[in-house]
Amino acid sequence: MPKAQETVLEIDLSALTHNFNYLKSKIQPQTKFLAVIKAFAYGSDSVEVAKHLEKLNVDYFAVAYAKEGVVLRDAGVTTPIIVLHPQPINFEILIDRCLEPSIYSANVLNEFIKTAEAKNQKHYPIHLKFNTGLNRLGFINSDIPSIVSKLNTSASVKVVSLFSHLAASEDNNELNFTELQIKRFKSIADNFESKIDYKPWLHLCNTSGVLNYPEAHFDMVRCGIGLYGFGNSVEEDKNLKPIACLKSVISQIHKIDKDETVGYNRAYTSKGFEKSATIPIGHADGINRIYGKGNGFVIINGEKAPIIGNVCMDMIMVNISDIECKEGDEVIIFNSDYSASHLSASAKTISYEIITAVSQRVKRVFLE
Ligand SMILES: *Cc1c(COP(=O)(O)O)cnc(C)c1O
Repeated sequence: MPKAQETVLEIDLSALTHNFNYLKSKIQPQTKFLAVIKAFAYGSDSVEVAKHLEKLNVDYFAVAYAKEGVVLRDAGVTTPIIVLHPQPINFEILIDRCLEPSIYSANVLNEFIKTAEAKNQKHYPIHLKFNTGLNRLGFINSDIPSIVSKLNTSASVKVVSLFSHLAASEDNNELNFTELQIKRFKSIADNFESKIDYKPWLHLCNTSGVLNYPEAHFDMVRCGIGLYGFGNSVEEDKNLKPIACLKSVISQIHKIDKDETVGYNRAYTSKGFEKSATIPIGHADGINRIYGKGNGFVIINGEKAPIIGNVCMDMIMVNISDIECKEGDEVIIFNSDYSASHLSASAKTISYEIITAVSQRVKRVFLE
């Protein structure tokens, strides 16, 4: 691997292959695999990740918002794409770019059918989202009669799938609640299927659902975080490989006398003769201010260097008093040995947050 000379996010596509194959090994051969590549494929690069997964014969993609889907279509991605949280203002674009909406309310269904009819569509693929306990987006079971009667008024759309989302699939303490969500989802599916003359696919599981609830895979699974190398448990983390490595370089080293301060607002005071290193990555790159004042750390020559003082917009300063290093040395913020889930824990947050926070200013480099 080349030594970093600036801040870069290295994306290891062979680790992505490994994670895809691992997750596929957990599902039946006939179960479809949807890769969730919202938010720049969890902070990596949605186009590169999508193209790589297409080579591995992924069945479906999902993004959160319409514009994320447009980027993929512009790049030549042809696999079907669900837009999980579309807004009516984007419905024309959705149809123009063959993006399939998740329909989660009567209002959204009516608006989508209106647009599909205006654009002379026949059987345009849509996906119905049901709320089984997350209480975020979705229809409920008692909405089904009115959904079906609305669908019967128009041939412009066709329901490809019914789905729901688990609230706590990674948490074994919530096993009973997850099982209740599975039960509710089955009864929604039964109710819907009793009122129409074909069988839409069913899907419920995210990554932790795939790993913890093999009985609930239905026709398709929707994996995000697992593809990027995190299994939401110590055990499963061992089976997956983080695909992203965030690294940087030491720009300058300072010798700091006792009682001198470092950074804005003089937030750190030297306890003796100390040394600090300035690293070209800041809160504008995704290192939130919560990581400042000793909460977060970076790795230099295999040693932990705590972030001292406040995180600046474009830089951090770290304490290297006990570390053998020089200007130009490489700095690891996270990689597969010093994982993002470990770093995020130091700020009482989760891997999802730190990996998706790496901003678009950081250069992406791809390893095959
Ligand atoms: C983000 C998302 C997923 C992926 O969840 P992971 O825990 O990252 O696997 C699946 N389904 C829906 C509806 C989502 O919003």
